[in-house]
Amino acid sequence: MTDLKKIISHAKEYGFVFPSSEIYEGLNAVYDYAQNGVLLKNNIRDYWWKAMIQLNKNIIGIDASILMHPTTWKASGHVDAFNDPLIDNKDSKKRYRADVLIEDYCAKIESKIEKEITKASKRFGADFDKSEFIKTNKRVLDYRLKINLILNRLGKSLEKEDLKDVKLLINELGIVCPISGSKNWTEVKQFNLMFGTKLGASSESANELFLRPETAQGIFVNFLNVQKTGRMKIPFGIAQTGKAFRNEIVARQFIFRMREFEQMEMQFFVTPGQQKFWYKKWKESRLKWHLSLGMGEENYRFHDHEKLAHYADLASDIEFKFPFGFKELEGIHSRTDFDLKNHEKFSGKKLQYFDPDKKENYVPYVIETSIGLDRMFLAVFSWSLHSEKLDDGSERIVLKIPEILAPIKVAILPLIKKDGLPEYAEKIFEDLKLNYNVIYDEKDAIGRRYRRQDAQGTPFCITVDHESLIDNCVTLRYRDSMKQERVETKKIIEILGSKLNYKSWLNKI
Ligand code: ATP
Repeated sequence: MTDLKKIISHAKEYGFVFPSSEIYEGLNAVYDYAQNGVLLKNNIRDYWWKAMIQLNKNIIGIDASILMHPTTWKASGHVDAFNDPLIDNKDSKKRYRADVLIEDYCAKIESKIEKEITKASKRFGADFDKSEFIKTNKRVLDYRLKINLILNRLGKSLEKEDLKDVKLLINELGIVCPISGSKNWTEVKQFNLMFGTKLGASSESANELFLRPETAQGIFVNFLNVQKTGRMKIPFGIAQTGKAFRNEIVARQFIFRMREFEQMEMQFFVTPGQQKFWYKKWKESRLKWHLSLGMGEENYRFHDHEKLAHYADLASDIEFKFPFGFKELEGIHSRTDFDLKNHEKFSGKKLQYFDPDKKENYVPYVIETSIGLDRMFLAVFSWSLHSEKLDDGSERIVLKIPEILAPIKVAILPLIKKDGLPEYAEKIFEDLKLNYNVIYDEKDAIGRRYRRQDAQGTPFCITVDHESLIDNCVTLRYRDSMKQERVETKKIIEILGSKLNYKSWLNKI
């Protein structure tokens, strides 16, 4: 997989992601989506929205506002408990998340396991049985045990808010600051991640507000409105996408961890006692959504949580193999009735469902699926970016974005800028633009134009040449295989339709 530096520079060079307010040196962990980036982002959001709302008759969507009544965040627990443990290195003056330092330490042990596996598979060749090796090899077992012990202890200490023990663990493991290389650490402290802001003009009367750190609460406070007006029967879901803000302590890794980002969340309301069943179902269903994009089953794994958030009774992440290793892409949480019950308590309003069959009221339990749109963008972008050596010895950079998500679907290219070819190509452009985002490009030699389209992920190129004016055929070129075929101009819509319709993609879910 391409390394992160190359990904960042490609994203900038080809108009996907720019640092925010770059002329002022940028703003840490805030990014802007450029001309191609916004299209890819919109397409990912659409793909999610269709899979959630269009394909499920019991899921409906809303769009709640970013600013909410401040009591929302007391009820949700974010005022008291939305903290990360931070630690400073006194020599480099760099700030870290204490839990991430420890997790990174474990990731290093994990890579030692990977090395053992690679070594052994080379030694045993075709006879190598990976799962047996993992179960029996002493070194691998020792490494695994060590990881488990560390993560268990970390989980327990964080749960008990025993920050002294987290510091002790960092000391015992001999973790050093990646910048200064020293072990000169401060104590571990809690840090609230919410951004504050003010409502109203005068500073005395202004109300202290927060920028929402998750979109979920906009769904919970609207639960009864939606259920009643939509006449929804349990089990049912409410979905929304939108911006969220977190004052992350360490915001590295490009758009993986941002201070302003977008979430795509769905809260699924179920009868108490049924949460395990639905939790399992949504885990499966979300994984299927990911796999439908064809980005390789081996690049996903579940990570079931030991340490649960204050609202959850079960939780798992879908992790994706990013350029810096397997990391959380999506969270699936069984949130119990924590949120609705607390909103009842703080608002004094009932947030209960009336079961028409049993003739009783109850507060439903909730299964949440929550994915970061920007993280999904990074997953797609990093997986897609390839540098390939061609037969003639040259190199091509290609973004093999799943076709349904590609920003521009088709480039229409007259071979030369005269002899009626541009006019013929324009006609195709005018026709296709009604279906897809297409571009017309007549600058530079055809080979360079193909490269330009490869680099921004356009799956199809249509080239018009002199023959086209006689036989009404064009050359259709495929991005991934670089295969070219001659097709009748009038068949283009049909051919593209078979590759770019949502039906064939969503059918896999
Ligand atoms: P992490 O452990 O990486 O901080 P989290 O467990 O706090 O993530 P959730 O609160 O479960 O994340 O949020 C759901 C999803 O929102 C995450 O799976 C991730 O895709 C996305 N997300 C969370 N924080 C950020 C961020 N700072 N930048 C970009 N995406 C984020």
